[in-house]
Amino acid sequence: MAKFYYLEKLSQQTIKYQIHSEGCALLPAWGKRDFLGTFYHERDAIKVSRLRHLATAPCSQCFENPRKYQIKL
Ligand SMILES: [Zn+2]
Repeated sequence: MAKFYYLEKLSQQTIKYQIHSEGCALLPAWGKRDFLGTFYHERDAIKVSRLRHLATAPCSQCFENPRKYQIKL
């Protein structure tokens, strides 16, 4: 089943983002997140997010396999 994915900007000074899926407990308020897209697999969410922003990392709470996609921010 497809899920909505969102980008959370981690800081105003830097361009670092964390990706969350819908229903995540750590998802920020509406004003602080950007809709990324609807994806069937988290790997697709990562792929698309890195086309838009280079520094994106998966949330460790809502990704099934965050380590696989982890990058050093
Ligand atoms: Zn999350």
